[in-house]
Amino acid sequence: MNYFTKEHEMFRESLRDFLNREVKGNIEKWESDQKIPKEIWKKMGDQGFLGLTYPEKYGGFGLDFFFEVILFEEMSRMNSGGFVITQQVVQCMSSPYILKYGSENLKQKYLPGIISGDLIGCIGITEPDTGSDVKNIKTKAEDKGDYYLLNGSKTFITNGVYGDFVITVAKTDTTAGTKGISLLVVDLNSEGINRTKINKLGWHASDTAEISFDNVKVSKENLIGEEGKGFYYLMNGLQLERLIFVPSSIGAMEFAITESIKYMKQRKSFGQTIDKFQVLRHKIATLSSEIEAIKVFGYYCCELYNKKIYDVKLCSMAKLLVTELHEKVSTECLQFFGGNGFSEEYPMARMYRDSRVGTIGAGTSEIMKEIISKIVLEEAEYKETKS
Ligand SMILES: Cc1cc2nc3c(=O)[nH]c(=O)nc-3n(C[C@H](O)[C@H](O)[C@H](O)COP(=O)(O)OP(=O)(O)OC[C@H]3O[C@@H](n4cnc5c(N)ncnc54)[C@H](O)[C@@H]3O)c2cc1C
Repeated sequence: MNYFTKEHEMFRESLRDFLNREVKGNIEKWESDQKIPKEIWKKMGDQGFLGLTYPEKYGGFGLDFFFEVILFEEMSRMNSGGFVITQQVVQCMSSPYILKYGSENLKQKYLPGIISGDLIGCIGITEPDTGSDVKNIKTKAEDKGDYYLLNGSKTFITNGVYGDFVITVAKTDTTAGTKGISLLVVDLNSEGINRTKINKLGWHASDTAEISFDNVKVSKENLIGEEGKGFYYLMNGLQLERLIFVPSSIGAMEFAITESIKYMKQRKSFGQTIDKFQVLRHKIATLSSEIEAIKVFGYYCCELYNKKIYDVKLCSMAKLLVTELHEKVSTECLQFFGGNGFSEEYPMARMYRDSRVGTIGAGTSEIMKEIISKIVLEEAEYKETKS
């Protein structure tokens, strides 16, 4: 089944041209500076590469989900996980909460900026003492009449230093369990916010931060949807956050195979190029087969999302399988390069370290297996929260 039409492929071509022209030659610098100049997002916005699935009313294009799939596949072929995750967080992991559940006021205030490339958003779930166990967050938003007083801290927040606003997961009622969790849009330059960059193994071009909130005043207007519904909004939103690993892993894995074959065809050992060694050829054959299989399954899950079919089981399976395969492909492709695989002069070192976070971010592999096993073994049901 081919989910990509002629229009999709034309979009892919023009995006590829843009990325080769404006991004490819800059990646090394952005990785070593550990920072991406914001102008590139503005350029992408000007060219119509952002806000693809967002309504035209806010400056978006109202396109189907496969345009977004193409966006992240092609961005991933640039071999910088940090470049990709920066916009994945903006387009798919933070702003959708405003679009789906936010007031018209919030939509007007934030969505045009994330579509034009002027604004960078983040999502603040994880805290120093809790990540997987979201219901145990400690960040508190006390009701003070016309504002909330926010106290607590978040960690591992992608775009946390670089960003303009953070969708903050906070307890508005500390006695109500999951029913006491709410989502607030917090401007990152508010008084009482402190942001510290975290040094990481990979995703070097992306900034990841610890954010502390010390008596930060947040207007009641910045509450997303209803108080106490944040946990349910999150459980819905996490489906897209997880699914979007499908295109980014596919793009990165295909890049790894292409680069490996190129290398194997010119590298000589024992008097012949290494692509003639059967053991290596078979590895390429196996990895290519596994990538094709995950593409069929992953695109099928994307098509369900495109049709607004909410399937937590398949989405969790796709996140689990694609990120684990991505890690395997990166490890095995690095091996094809021998010592050069370990060198920063060749693409595999970065590919390898960037792939490692896939099985951790947006819900670990263990958490994906927990969700899947509850559905498979206990017939647990996960229903969508509409608003
Ligand atoms: C580079 C990077 C970027 C990130 N970006 C963001 C972001 O933008 N926003 C954000 O909110 N978070 C972000 N995160 C955080 C990420 O989502 C968490 O690290 C992840 O959810 C795991 O939480 P934790 O680190 O607290 O690990 P823990 O929850 O402490 O888990 C530790 C280990 O125990 C396992 N474990 C936990 N519970 C169970 C269980 N019930 N059964 C079996 N095993 C279990 C986990 O799988 C893991 O192996 C980012 C992380 C990284 C590394």
